Amino acid sequence: MDNAVQLTGLSQPELVSFVETLGEPAYRGRQLFAALQHRRLRSFDEITDLPKELRARLSQMAQAATLKVESRYVSSDGTRRYLMKTHDGLPVETVFIPEERRDTICFSSQSGCPLQCTFCLTAQLGLLRSLTAGEIVEQIHIALNDAYGTGVKPPRGTNLVAMGAGEPLLNLDQLLNALRVMADPQGLHIVPNRVTVSTAGVVPRILDLAKTSDRPHLAISLAAPTDELRDELMPINKRWPLDDLLSACKVFEKTLKPGERLTFEYVMLDGVNDSEEHARQLANLLNRHNIKAKMNLIPHNPADPLPYQPSSETTVDRFKNLLESKGIHTYVRRPRGRDIFAACGQLAARQTTLINIESNSVGANT
Ligand code: SF4
Repeated sequence: MDNAVQLTGLSQPELVSFVETLGEPAYRGRQLFAALQHRRLRSFDEITDLPKELRARLSQMAQAATLKVESRYVSSDGTRRYLMKTHDGLPVETVFIPEERRDTICFSSQSGCPLQCTFCLTAQLGLLRSLTAGEIVEQIHIALNDAYGTGVKPPRGTNLVAMGAGEPLLNLDQLLNALRVMADPQGLHIVPNRVTVSTAGVVPRILDLAKTSDRPHLAISLAAPTDELRDELMPINKRWPLDDLLSACKVFEKTLKPGERLTFEYVMLDGVNDSEEHARQLANLLNRHNIKAKMNLIPHNPADPLPYQPSSETTVDRFKNLLESKGIHTYVRRPRGRDIFAACGQLAARQTTLINIESNSVGANT
């Protein structure tokens, strides 16, 4: 079934065309779209409002679902984390974070990641491959079905963040296709305004996104206030240094809607990027480019193979106060799901590391 069409990545008009090529009337396409995207059904057998014969034909040439949940972890704070596998056996990780007034689902755009951020476990996998639109949409179906039951309407709104594994702007076409599918009122109805895409700083794609109508919000992972330090922590900086990145942000800023703000993310690494001098440099950088953004400070989630520790609460508070005194709106992101390794890239990489360790111990990797 490697050539099978992944139906979860198709918009309603695309599904209508697809069924028409099978000689079926257009309304069957709309029925199929509602079954997959609104009722979140994951097998043709369950779509009993379609004729049996059509279901049999569909199962021969198409797939209603391709991802399989390998492991599921539920944190004491309610956060749920999933390690899934693609049809070709690659890891995909997704996190569901319930909050009082909304749920947030953090999804992956790639399996592994080609960028080499030194504070990230996913980086150690390298890029396995980019995910298809269908695989992106499926992550949301799986998380919602698990949290509320198949097809049950979530009691709160759902926000999405592309902050799982991968660099979303290196898979922009598939990501935008997925967002179009998810925005359909007859499906999930999660509009781009509820979606934030986080980038390590792929400058040309930031500029492309700025020109996209119905685009999601943008967050930029900074991690350092100077090129020297950022080159070390996020090697993508050697290709697009801070001045280029912030100039692109300035272009993006001009496209912001009323009330919308650009977000910067700053992972706090003990003794590496968290001094008062770093805070001053960071404030000066944003102020020099005259960018009115929101700054999220993210306490680092320590993980064995990574050489970093999280900054202390006092250091984070001092950093925040200094930024605020320079006019930067700063928030500290509360870590969720720490007991289940719910930080960017940690689950898939951790599992793969464990598998490698086990394989190494019996000499299978030699
Ligand atoms: S932090 Fe994000 S962009 Fe950087 S290596 Fe990890 S997944 Fe890739």
